[in-house]
Formats: sequence, C-alpha cells, structure tokens
Amino acid sequence: MFDFKELYQPKNLADALRLRKEHPDAVILAGGSDVLINIRAGKEAGRDILNIFGLDELRGISMEPDGTLVILPLTSFSHVSQSPLIQQNIPTLQEAVDQVGGPQIRNIGTIGGNICNGVTSADSATTLKAFDAILELSSVEGKRIVPYADFNKGPGKVDLRPDELLTAIRIPKESYQDTYGHYIKYAMRRAMDIATMACSANVRLDAKKQHIERMRIAYGVAAPVPVRGFTVEKVVQGRGFDQALLDDAAKAALNDVNPRTSWRASKEFRIHLIEELTRRALKTSIERAGGKFNG
Ligand SMILES: Cc1cc2nc3c(=O)[nH]c(=O)nc-3n(C[C@H](O)[C@H](O)[C@H](O)COP(=O)(O)OP(=O)(O)OC[C@H]3O[C@@H](n4cnc5c(N)ncnc54)[C@H](O)[C@@H]3O)c2cc1C
Repeated sequence: MFDFKELYQPKNLADALRLRKEHPDAVILAGGSDVLINIRAGKEAGRDILNIFGLDELRGISMEPDGTLVILPLTSFSHVSQSPLIQQNIPTLQEAVDQVGGPQIRNIGTIGGNICNGVTSADSATTLKAFDAILELSSVEGKRIVPYADFNKGPGKVDLRPDELLTAIRIPKESYQDTYGHYIKYAMRRAMDIATMACSANVRLDAKKQHIERMRIAYGVAAPVPVRGFTVEKVVQGRGFDQALLDDAAKAALNDVNPRTSWRASKEFRIHLIEELTRRALKTSIERAGGKFNG
C-alpha cells in the first residue's frame, strides 16, 4: 500500500501546469522509481501526488533544424539508449544510461527524474553536464531557460520553482558536434548499484588529430552535486597525447572536486578514483576521436 492523499492525473501539459500551480506541495510522479520508494519508506508519505507519467507530449527525442537535440523529460533510459539520434550524435549518453540499475529500472525510470532528483550519483547527470545541456522549465507563466550547469543547488536540491516542471533537455549542436567521449561508472558491482564514482569526458581534436581542440569533463559522487572539471579542461587545451597529459589532467581534477567518506568508499579512495577515471576517460575519448598516444 502507498500512503498518499490526493492523486492528480492531468490530461495534458497545460492541465499539469495548472495543477502544479494549484498544488505546489504535491509530489511530481514520473516513472516513480525514486518517488514511490520514498513514499513507501515513509519519507514522502501522506502527500498529494501529481502524476505526469501519462503525458506522452513530454516523451521522445528529436532534432531541431539547427541541430539542437531535444530530449523530453519522460523519455525512459531504454528509449534514450535505443534512439538513433543519441547513438549517432551523443553515444556517451547511451553509454551512461545503459549503466543505470537493471532493465526494469531502465524501462520505467526517466531522464527527467534522474536530474530533477538532484542526486550526485545520477548516471545521466555527468554526461549532460559535460555536453552543456540546457534545461527548459515551464509554468503557467511561461518558460524559463536554465543551463544545467546552474541547476543543482545542493544534495537533492535543484533550481525548480514550486510551480514549475522540467519540460525539455536541450543539447546545442556546438556542444556535441565532432566530439568523442567516454562515461565510466565505478561501482561495487556491475549492475543494480549506484556509482561510487562517475566520470564523463568528451574531446574534439584538431583536423590532424594531433592536439585537443576542446575537452569537457564532469564527475558524479566527487562532490555533493555533479560537477564539471573546469581546471582539467583548461590544463589539457591544445595539448598532444602522452602520459604527461593524462597525469596532469588527473592532478588538475583534484581542484574541481570535494569527495567525502561514506559507507561505500573513503575520501582517499574516491580521490584515487577521480585521478584514475580522469586518465582513463580522457585516453579513451582521444582514442575514439582517432588520436594516437606516443607511448
Ligand atoms: C533498484 C533501483 C536501482 C537504481 N539504479 C540507479 C542507477 O544505477 N543509476 C541512477 O542514476 N539511478 C538509479 N536509480 C534511481 C532512479 O531510477 C533514477 O533516478 C530515475 O531516473 C528516476 O526517474 P523516475 O522517472 O523514476 O523519477 P521519479 O521517481 O518519478 O521522480 C524523481 C524526482 O524527480 C522529480 N521529477 C520527475 N520528473 C520531473 C519533471 N518533469 N519536472 C519536475 N520534477 C520532476 C520528482 O518529483 C522526484 O523528485 C535506481 C532506482 C532503483 C529503485
């Protein structure tokens, strides 16, 4: 039995935004793989529920004429993984969502729920940060555009106003064009486990594939929220490919993170993971882009 008060079932997005405005304290229910567990555990018991899961207009992936990829928030992880648009343009996102939970969770869990829960271990979060995703938040007043970089406000806290819903995740062409990337999730077991550490990198090389023209990297569980590795990105800019590049990147990463000790891993082990995952994600990204290491 689930302990809730009223269940609101909007017929369309306009109806959902109206209900959201009228009932700002209601819990938004998408796939429910976080929310229903919290309700059952008593953390969100006795609340009203606004169930948006049936709104097909918030589901799907498309490309706009200027090449912007638009991922609607109710798109499931399985759907993201099977999308030819994602496979062709941002295979790193496919790599990331394929590592969420097990098949059942990937079928029911949505990418919107994954970033709105504000959790640092969310598997899609690092890759969306590393590709400069932009969020569209809607209310009855209109739309608000927020860079995903600014969305996380603290553990479990995001910049979502009480009358707003996440209605789209947008990735501009400039962010993904000619990039190659790699997502690494370090967990205690291969499936059905959340990340102890996560790292998503992508690079764009120069025409001769000798140097890094541009690099993006983000980490999960390396800080209270998913974070970008801006220092790493600066340190590797314009460099050729050798062990010194990887070691400098690993060292630079420590400026961008703030890991903690938890029952999963000590702070020291997480620092080791951050360094090693930085090396591996960068190396694989460069190799996928056609760059060759000199030894
Ligand atoms: C067994 C199990 C294994 C899991 N493994 C992983 C894993 O490996 N990696 C991982 O990242 N996660 C994992 N999760 C967590 C969960 O599946 C994901 O976070 C999932 O993406 C949540 O999506 P949902 O649609 O189920 O969200 P819900 O539970 O419906 O909602 C999650 C939160 O987002 C809010 N929300 C949802 N959609 C919107 C919207 N459009 N606008 C505004 N707010 C919204 C809700 O109010 C709620 O706060 C696991 C969960 C379970 C139960």
